[in-house]
Amino acid sequence: MKVYSPSQTERAMSCPMKNALYNEGWRTRKTGPGLLPMEVGKAIAAGLGVYNNIRKGIESSGRQIDTIDAKLKADYAKTAMDVGFTFLTRGMDEIEKLGYILGNGAEEYIRTIKDRIGKSLTSYINNDPLSPKWRIVDVERTYGPEYGNARPDLVIEDDFGLAVVDYKTKSALTPKYRTEDSYTESHQMKHYCCFGEAIYNRPVQRFYICQIITNAGSVNLKSYEYSTEALLLWRQATEPFWQYMEQVEKGEALPWMASNHETKYGPCEFQRACFSHRFDQDLMKSDYILVEKDTNGEVLAKA
Ligand code: SF4
Repeated sequence: MKVYSPSQTERAMSCPMKNALYNEGWRTRKTGPGLLPMEVGKAIAAGLGVYNNIRKGIESSGRQIDTIDAKLKADYAKTAMDVGFTFLTRGMDEIEKLGYILGNGAEEYIRTIKDRIGKSLTSYINNDPLSPKWRIVDVERTYGPEYGNARPDLVIEDDFGLAVVDYKTKSALTPKYRTEDSYTESHQMKHYCCFGEAIYNRPVQRFYICQIITNAGSVNLKSYEYSTEALLLWRQATEPFWQYMEQVEKGEALPWMASNHETKYGPCEFQRACFSHRFDQDLMKSDYILVEKDTNGEVLAKA
């Protein structure tokens, strides 16, 4: 049985038709700076990946991160920022290659988001929310295709054992994001923890959500825990759905349509494809672009 990535499974669970359209390469035709928030999250994660690898190296040499002086930490922040900005530039190039138009008005917004990326990385590195006594085990390690290519931001050894850390970036803490416990039953975190046990031959039952609010540069870490039974139940309940996803992928089953066509974030991006254009590809091209992907589902270019 094929195991699908957390993001693809969550998309298919919200609506298999949405996942099918996405896998065919359909993307909403958008313009302007609204295209960039996801790139900010990726840039910050890339910068923190660099820093966490530095921290891991320091720990391997027998030292703790809190023994490092401020000057060196400023150098780490600079290195992390350089990598973050490189990722942002690359992300913007890829967006434009796909046929999206950022437009001239994006320049000022790009200055703002660069400032936010720099502020967030500096704030994290100067006040690392992970206890100096904890150890970094792996940075962005891919679990492999047999575990859905899951890739937690970090796996650490905390006071009790192995735990996953996941970074969540938001520009501001608006009420719709302020659902404190929305990660308690996170599919993504259950996937990381459940298959983490197979990767490390040890239970991984705790995870930390590190929320980074970029306009304030604030960093907040919160811990969660799953019982063995909760992870087992998750796996038993998810496997039949992966079997269904595989059938759809192989053309042995049709994708069904959800009964609800919006979330708390707004209407589904494919409403016009489903209900106005009724999947007519020529009509869909007025609202969507069709991107080409490689066999791993990575976007290559605009078709
Ligand atoms: S509009 Fe509804 S049926 Fe169509 S992809 Fe979105 S959620 Fe699914």
